[in-house]
Amino acid sequence: MSEVSTIRITKNTQSRLHETELKNIPFGKIFTDHMLVADYADGAWQDVEILPYQPFSFDPSLAAIHYGQCIFEGIKAYHNVHDEVVIFRPYDNYARFNQSAARMQMPEVPEEIFIDGMKELINLDKAWIPTYENHSLYIRPFMFATDTFIGVRPSATYKFVIILAPTGPYYSKPTRIKVEEKYTRAAPGGVGGAKNAGNYGLSLKPTEDAKLAGYDQVLWTDAFEHKWLQEVGTMNVFFVLKDKVLTPSLEEGTILDGVTRKSAIVVLREMGLNVEERRISIDELVDEYKKGNFLESFGTGTAATISPIKELAYKDEHLVFDVDNNSQVSQELGKRLSDIRSGVVEDTHGWIEKI
Ligand SMILES: *Cc1c(COP(=O)(O)O)cnc(C)c1O
Repeated sequence: MSEVSTIRITKNTQSRLHETELKNIPFGKIFTDHMLVADYADGAWQDVEILPYQPFSFDPSLAAIHYGQCIFEGIKAYHNVHDEVVIFRPYDNYARFNQSAARMQMPEVPEEIFIDGMKELINLDKAWIPTYENHSLYIRPFMFATDTFIGVRPSATYKFVIILAPTGPYYSKPTRIKVEEKYTRAAPGGVGGAKNAGNYGLSLKPTEDAKLAGYDQVLWTDAFEHKWLQEVGTMNVFFVLKDKVLTPSLEEGTILDGVTRKSAIVVLREMGLNVEERRISIDELVDEYKKGNFLESFGTGTAATISPIKELAYKDEHLVFDVDNNSQVSQELGKRLSDIRSGVVEDTHGWIEKI
């Protein structure tokens, strides 16, 4: 489907790296010297280019900004302890990107552009990868509709882009979570399982309402009864009970198939824990909490990896967790994942892609 064999590279003659402090660099604001851009037209990817990071100019009728044909990914690369540059599970993100594309009626992006292009771009900007502990390079591939037409139909043209942002340690302070009973993020048959931009747009108002009520995030529930649990904010969610770990299953297509989620399931099982992927109601968790069986809860995602939860609030119930003294499972999980990424332990799962 694509004739792409070589990527045209135009180098930046004035690197901004020397004027950038990489230590503790905040997430998502500073980007490296280059970006990758590919254009889709006439039913094929035409042109793949790495060029200096720069703004796009666009026509006001650009389809993506009217009707939301727009998807993205989030991946991390690391400078490991063996002085190598590695990417964590990029093929999983690649597969997921094309699943999102299919759901949004967008063209598939070939591996030579997504994976090979990403590696080439990272290699060119590898001096930007922080070498400090717990730092990384955040990789943001995205695709949007570029037809200049405000009629509703799938665009015939698209741009696929990769930008890179060096990132400092993500300290996720233990969060207080409100179980959402009014708003809905995703329903069966919808787009909850796709990483499309609109899923984030719709989450802002409910999250802001939760903040006004004194919480940090919402725990999304099903559209019909508002009791079957889905995700926490923009992360997958895990509940640690005395004899098992629960996480919502993917079957309904209402939650994202997180790469951190599936890595966590594997590692938790290696830790000897019994992990169940299934439907989980808030009532079940309240019951287990009252019996003293519900010990820990945390969110998972590429940005924060593991984000501890210190409170789940549902109606008059407040499930409170002693994160400082009682988070053995999430801490051990976080350490094991970190050791795999940083090369402290051998990668026995084929999750690490060297550049
Ligand atoms: C990206 C994302 C996640 C986390 O997925 P990872 O692959 O682990 O980064 C979870 N939920 C939603 C809604 C997301 O968009």
